[in-house]
Amino acid sequence: MESGGTVHSVIDGLAGSEGIRRDRLLQYLYALQGHFSHVPPEAIDRLASDLELPASHIRGVIAFYSFLHEMPRGDFDILFSDSITDHMQGSRELHRQLCERLGVASGQPRPDGRVTVDLTSCTGMCDQGPALLVNGLAVARLDAARIDTIAGLVEAGTALADWPPEFFAVEDNIRRRDLLLDDSSEGNALQALQVRGAEAILESLERSGLRGRGGAGFPTATKWRLCRESDADAHYVVCNADEGEPGTFKDRVLLNSHADRMVEGMTLCAGVIDARQGYIYLRAEYRHLREPLEAVLQRRREAGLLGRAILGSDGFDFDIEIHMGAGAYVCGEESSLIESLEGKRGIPRKRPPFPVNRGFHNRPTVVNNVETFMAAALIAQHGADWFRGAGTGPSSGTKLLSISGDCERPGIYEYPYGVSIREILADCGARDAQAVQVAGAAGATVAASEFDRAIAFDDLPTGGSFMVFDKSRDLLDMVLNFSRFFVHESCGFCTPCRVGGVLLRDLVEKVHAGHASDYDLEEMRSIGSLIRTSSHCGLGTTAPNPVLDTLDKFPEIYRRRLTGNGFEPAFDLDAALSDARRIAGRDDETAHAGVES
Ligand code: SF4
Repeated sequence: MESGGTVHSVIDGLAGSEGIRRDRLLQYLYALQGHFSHVPPEAIDRLASDLELPASHIRGVIAFYSFLHEMPRGDFDILFSDSITDHMQGSRELHRQLCERLGVASGQPRPDGRVTVDLTSCTGMCDQGPALLVNGLAVARLDAARIDTIAGLVEAGTALADWPPEFFAVEDNIRRRDLLLDDSSEGNALQALQVRGAEAILESLERSGLRGRGGAGFPTATKWRLCRESDADAHYVVCNADEGEPGTFKDRVLLNSHADRMVEGMTLCAGVIDARQGYIYLRAEYRHLREPLEAVLQRRREAGLLGRAILGSDGFDFDIEIHMGAGAYVCGEESSLIESLEGKRGIPRKRPPFPVNRGFHNRPTVVNNVETFMAAALIAQHGADWFRGAGTGPSSGTKLLSISGDCERPGIYEYPYGVSIREILADCGARDAQAVQVAGAAGATVAASEFDRAIAFDDLPTGGSFMVFDKSRDLLDMVLNFSRFFVHESCGFCTPCRVGGVLLRDLVEKVHAGHASDYDLEEMRSIGSLIRTSSHCGLGTTAPNPVLDTLDKFPEIYRRRLTGNGFEPAFDLDAALSDARRIAGRDDETAHAGVES
């Protein structure tokens, strides 16, 4: 937590010389949270007055984002990653250990206000878990000894700046390099743009076959062209650095070690679509990357590669701001991300219109993933054939995978598209794998009989998550973890996802607790299909995947827990009524459920 200043002085400082702006509301709230461990009521009133918004609107924004709070958190706000791979590495025991050491209940600030210990969704450190965030900064490679040290530091009130620096070391863990990660040439994509012009760059991108690396795979050249041809008084470039899919962490590595290329790709895009302003939407879990990214932007400004008259070209003006997310998985969806960028709750928009026509502030906007911008810069420099030389026809180039779970060498692997699951498992030292979850919680559960399938847009598309489960794992734990994740992350806008997700999670819990019957499995199929076909956005349409996939491919994880064919209650009614019986002084035979009077 930062210290010093009153609510008013902090807000005055945030507004700066440009004055207060509605589209920066989320950034003000994020900064206030950092100063005061919550957003104080007087800050809400001040912002409501200055921005001419109802206070309820501001409260709605705070409630939407997991990292914002109206009630104070502890001076040390500790969030354990609740990702399934962290569980597999013992995070739940470490979470319990820290709560016990500090005498704190999970999710509740300690009465003296010193500390809060809580859970959060995946922190993007699955290759070096278990991990936690303390006041937004990642601490990885947790073990019992490190937890003991953390407890001591918290009790002593030691400032984070004085914690052992190795606690905050985040490794890149690059294990396999190919086209993108192998490239060590100096960037000259912008010279290529100057010399060849925007149309030639678009033709190169078209011929390269580059498709969006976030998972959806929309052709990049088409997106840029549609935006360029959309008439408006302003165009925008947005880098989606909000990778929140459980098990994905490759953007963390690109932003840490290849940010120059990514920014070059954004600047290239700006030159093609004629944008003056860009944004990097950085997930809050990667706060440790903010300062290094600011430094990259500043270096590029000083080198004439960002700002006014880029490369001395009059009229080629483009700059980039970093916008912090605040813990909302749904903001990885491009229209939600744009809403969030405008300072609102990240509710997905209706489409069409698409962002290329009406995006940020209703102006044409290109939203691309970190990896996509990096690939675009390299294609402009090396040409379409260089890129097409790797991969398969409909899936050209390479893909970065974030590999975690049961394997000897977790980390970042770059492969040409078309690589098989079997080859990847051999490379990362996965023995005895029973399943791989490709593309995260929203992706596909791939059984051992399918390990010859390939990473490709026309087979197994992925934004990058690749989680390995060996035969010692109960896959129902994974399904339960993902079901809870989707309930937590649903934005609540549409009923199939909001209500259906809860019903589905409850049924998974019922199976897990050994109270379910065949009837419940049929209910799961039916509710899962309904959520898949009638939800408003991609979060809802993919949320039932883990349940439906495992019901088909791993029926035994459900069947071995079933109690029978008919209806089974999800809880023990007789036990639940015991308090009422005690108060009423009844313990005769007919006071018990299931006994006919
Ligand atoms: Fe929100 Fe879920 Fe509906 Fe998407 S599907 S709009 S996340 S409630």
